Amino acid sequence: MKITDVFKKNKKTFSFEFFPPKDLHNAIRFGINAGQLMKLQPSFVSVTYGAGGSSRDNSFDVVDLFHNNLDFNCMAHYTCVNATHEKIAYDMRTLQDMGIENVMLLRGDPPDIKKKCPPNPDGIDYASDLIRFVRERYNFCIGAGAYPEKHKEAPSMEEDLINLRIKADAGADFFITQMFFNNKYYWEFVNKAEQKGIKCRIIPGIIPINSFKQIKKFSEISGASIPKSFQEKLEPNKDKPKEVYKIGLDLAIRQCSDLLDNGAPGIHFYTLNRSRAAVDLYENLSKGHEELNEKYKESFTPHVP
Ligand code: FAD
Repeated sequence: MKITDVFKKNKKTFSFEFFPPKDLHNAIRFGINAGQLMKLQPSFVSVTYGAGGSSRDNSFDVVDLFHNNLDFNCMAHYTCVNATHEKIAYDMRTLQDMGIENVMLLRGDPPDIKKKCPPNPDGIDYASDLIRFVRERYNFCIGAGAYPEKHKEAPSMEEDLINLRIKADAGADFFITQMFFNNKYYWEFVNKAEQKGIKCRIIPGIIPINSFKQIKKFSEISGASIPKSFQEKLEPNKDKPKEVYKIGLDLAIRQCSDLLDNGAPGIHFYTLNRSRAAVDLYENLSKGHEELNEKYKESFTPHVP
């Protein structure tokens, strides 16, 4: 089902992002995690494409598995960095033939993320051009990326917002944000996007913190700042994984509750292929907050043990 049709039924959506497992060990863990998350009946799941050094080749296999074998409503991420028009067309036809109706279209990062993407003479340089190319030729529902703390390469928030508007005009149906930890950035961003005439949903992307070291690395890569209050809680416990897990979960519950209470159109969970944090977070949101559960009962499907 197209995610835009899910929006028509649900005021809020709850979705989970996975990346393709790299080896057999991770594939087994991935299967267990996907099974756990099936019980939550998410609005949709998404599968990354080459993100953080993960394999591009396995991405479509996982999309196929989710969509055609496990019956998830699945969105395939796709990036145009280093791809030719021919390759993009071939890949879109492959997804279409698999029955996929939703794609998340991104530029992607260069292999060395410290360097800028070099121009691609045979291909496409920006996500907006990829979105336009796909919108004109295929019948997908299209998601795109948004950056509440500005994309790291953009010279200013204003320019990044102009580029966001270009993506919306090119045919993006909705946006999912880069991870962020301070909701203030999200709301400021949503307001500014509205002022730029962007009308589609901007779904917050949230990551439950599992490891202090890992989150520091992600924050560096993505440009998402970690609030001082988070650091003060996490840093003294950085070598105690169970404590970090508990603190990370508590912070994520508070962050998501606050977003939902203030009208966010759902949550996209970056699972990092670990179901426990995502399941615990979702359960706490739907069960622990009676008021919240009542308010959003149409969109929440509480976990059935
Ligand atoms: P763009 O929208 O093209 O923007 C990139 C930069 O160029 C920005 O600074 C923008 O302001 C600027 N820009 C845009 N258009 C123009 C223009 N016409 N002229 C000048 N400047 C312009 N990466 C992966 O490899 N695989 C994934 O699966 C993946 N999934 C993601 C999911 C989400 C929800 C998000 C938010 C990101 C994801 N990424 C993924 C990371 C993404 O590929 C990187 O953040 C990448 O650096 C930018 O991609 P984009 O689509 O936002 O690019």
